[in-house]
Amino acid sequence: MSTSCESIEMAFPSTLSEALALQADERTRGRLISGGTDLMAQWESGVLAPPPRAISLQSLSELRGIHEFDASLQMEPGRPRPGSLPSISIGALTTHAELRSSPLIQQHLPALAAAAATVGGAQIQARGTLAGNVANASPAGDLIPSLLIANASVIVASMTGERQIPLANFYLGYRKIDLHPDEIIVRFVLKKCPEGSRESFRKLGPRAAQAISKIMCAYRARVQDGLVQCFHLALGSVAPTPIRLYDFETWIEGQTLSTALLDEAERKVASLVSPVADIRSTAEYRQWVAGRLVRGFLEELLGG
Ligand SMILES: Cc1cc2nc3c(=O)[nH]c(=O)nc-3n(C[C@H](O)[C@H](O)[C@H](O)COP(=O)(O)OP(=O)(O)OC[C@H]3O[C@@H](n4cnc5c(N)ncnc54)[C@H](O)[C@@H]3O)c2cc1C
Repeated sequence: MSTSCESIEMAFPSTLSEALALQADERTRGRLISGGTDLMAQWESGVLAPPPRAISLQSLSELRGIHEFDASLQMEPGRPRPGSLPSISIGALTTHAELRSSPLIQQHLPALAAAAATVGGAQIQARGTLAGNVANASPAGDLIPSLLIANASVIVASMTGERQIPLANFYLGYRKIDLHPDEIIVRFVLKKCPEGSRESFRKLGPRAAQAISKIMCAYRARVQDGLVQCFHLALGSVAPTPIRLYDFETWIEGQTLSTALLDEAERKVASLVSPVADIRSTAEYRQWVAGRLVRGFLEELLGG
């Protein structure tokens, strides 16, 4: 397998419609490249053969920006109306550095801000993008659990229009996504963490910095007077794709937090995930630690 990137024919469209026109035609279609942090490493290491053509998305201003909006009013992102704006639109090219430092993300999607802050080092955070992390479709993609707990949708565009796909349905299997060859991810739509709810993200890696996750998870929950009213839980690196643990969510909603419930919850999570072993971890360790991490979340909620 060739490991040279020198022979790739690069296109640099300056507008989204130009990029979509290139992708619509088999003769000009190329591998989409945003930050290039995954692709360049995969091409250079020989994990992926370099493609004949690549399309750089870096100049597409339409793929940038973080805005509040109301999805139910079908508003254009970036044009807020008075009143409550329950959703946030995040451009596909938003970098990890922008996610972690955005006041809107910090306030309304704190688990996502926390997840972005754990990705690689400063250089990777400056270049790596949200769309790249999602489309790379690694079970260890750090941003994905935080998107799943916020009921994120992926908006993809082609010459024929846009499609909105719930992120939970976007992953079709190991490294397989619901993206047609002529489509480009343009933005994501997420529900803000509602007033009175809280959320957070935890990642366990072999060392404190620049580590690929052994396992990571995020939760969003509302607890009132000890009663779990709502609980969203998503994990990565415990299945071929990042997952929401809907069975656990249904089980815990309506229960009252107690030490006994925490014990049961820890066992339940471990029994519901079926991770595989790889070079970073054994399956048994991942299963055990998934239970421990969720217990930690519940302790956080129990402590108020
Ligand atoms: C040293 C190092 C450390 C890293 N550490 C971490 C880490 O801790 N956690 C983590 O999760 N990841 C990590 N990564 C992986 C990577 O940096 C991230 O996944 C990053 O978000 C990828 O974004 P990108 O823009 O660079 O993607 P690219 O490399 O440009 O693309 C990745 C994939 O997404 C596709 N793609 C890109 N943009 C679009 C689009 N708009 N529409 C459709 N498809 C698109 C590409 O075709 C490709 O398949 C690390 C990488 C390196 C090299």
